Amino acid sequence: MKLRQVLTKSAEKLFEISQTISIIDTHEHIPISEKAYNERTLKFGDLFHPYLGNDLFSAGMSFPQGRYPKYYCISDDWDQFEPYWKVVKFGSYARAIRIALQEFYGAEDLTRENYEEIVKRINQNNTSGIYRRIFQDKCHIEKCICCGNDLPDRNDSLLLGNIDTLSMQADQFMPFSPDQLKRIVEEVGAQDVRNLDEFVEVSDRWMELQVEKGAMEFKCKAIPVEIPNKAKAEEELKVVLRGEPLPYHMSYHLMAYLREAYARKAAELNVPIALHAGIWWDYRTLSANDLIGFIRRNPATRMDIYHLGIPEVRNTIQIVKNFPNAYLNLCWAHIVAPEMVVNTLKEALDMIPLNKIFAFGGDYILFIEKIYGHLLMARENISLVLGERVDGGLMDMCEAERILMSWFYENPKKFYQI
Ligand SMILES: [Zn+2]
Repeated sequence: MKLRQVLTKSAEKLFEISQTISIIDTHEHIPISEKAYNERTLKFGDLFHPYLGNDLFSAGMSFPQGRYPKYYCISDDWDQFEPYWKVVKFGSYARAIRIALQEFYGAEDLTRENYEEIVKRINQNNTSGIYRRIFQDKCHIEKCICCGNDLPDRNDSLLLGNIDTLSMQADQFMPFSPDQLKRIVEEVGAQDVRNLDEFVEVSDRWMELQVEKGAMEFKCKAIPVEIPNKAKAEEELKVVLRGEPLPYHMSYHLMAYLREAYARKAAELNVPIALHAGIWWDYRTLSANDLIGFIRRNPATRMDIYHLGIPEVRNTIQIVKNFPNAYLNLCWAHIVAPEMVVNTLKEALDMIPLNKIFAFGGDYILFIEKIYGHLLMARENISLVLGERVDGGLMDMCEAERILMSWFYENPKKFYQI
């Protein structure tokens, strides 16, 4: 089974160099505590969570309650899985998984005969030291930024933390429900929140506390609201203040207003704002185009734009080109659409200053061996783009090597101040 792409000679040389350099992994969702990761026991379906689940769902595999695949449980039943595996296994989500299975477990493919044994060995391998073995020994990852859990000391930890501020998860920072609001108010030691202005005061204090604890960054997203409207945001918050939950699709104005407050405070605290753009489900509600006003209104805030805004890749690079505070983070993108990443980066090289690109973030939740597979694909993609420039006579190998280093390591290191 061929899992490595055949590259040109120049690209292969760059790929070899990429395997020797230090990497900053800009984005994962795994627990910062290795002990918490060790306590997990994976079932077969968990290996594909969440991304390949999207492909399986699209192929027609049924999921409990037909729910949006981001939140599903994938069946552990081989008979149910097999026909759909056949039609998704050559896709790029599957490729990262297959590279990992081959590298760590010697499996050429998933089969009825080997799947149970593989899951058993994955769980046996999940012991103390797995983070060092995967991140450092196999991937040469020097630092990894993880989203949405506890915050370690940013100076002496392999894993660092950023915080999701517009997430519906109960433990995150957005007042979608009375309980969530109560928890946030208690966390900062405030008395009560009676209106939007008071919530912004609470949020300012909360962000200060998180940065004191070690937060590297606050994660937001593209929202389909061009200009924040305080009156509409206040109306949405009133639903929660009345004691009712606020449905996500009715919270856009509140999110847009609060995101503006988060950006102002982030600039004051000198930490960046991450911005999810594109990909999931109705991607029109996550459009990179909707970020333009937000980025323009907050020039003192460093914006970390995720995922190449897929499928609006050209719009995203145009935004990064036009605004000094906007940066391009390729996390997740290499497994979503590798060919799109390669083609877009060829255009981005013409358009975007070299200091504004971060090459890698795995964006995984479970089964961290997949980070190795994803990183291999990222190394191939970047090497292909730069190798073509070398072959075309537009840069020499030393210049290509410098750019490779800056995208994988120096740029994110400088941006996150790590
Ligand atoms: Zn993510």
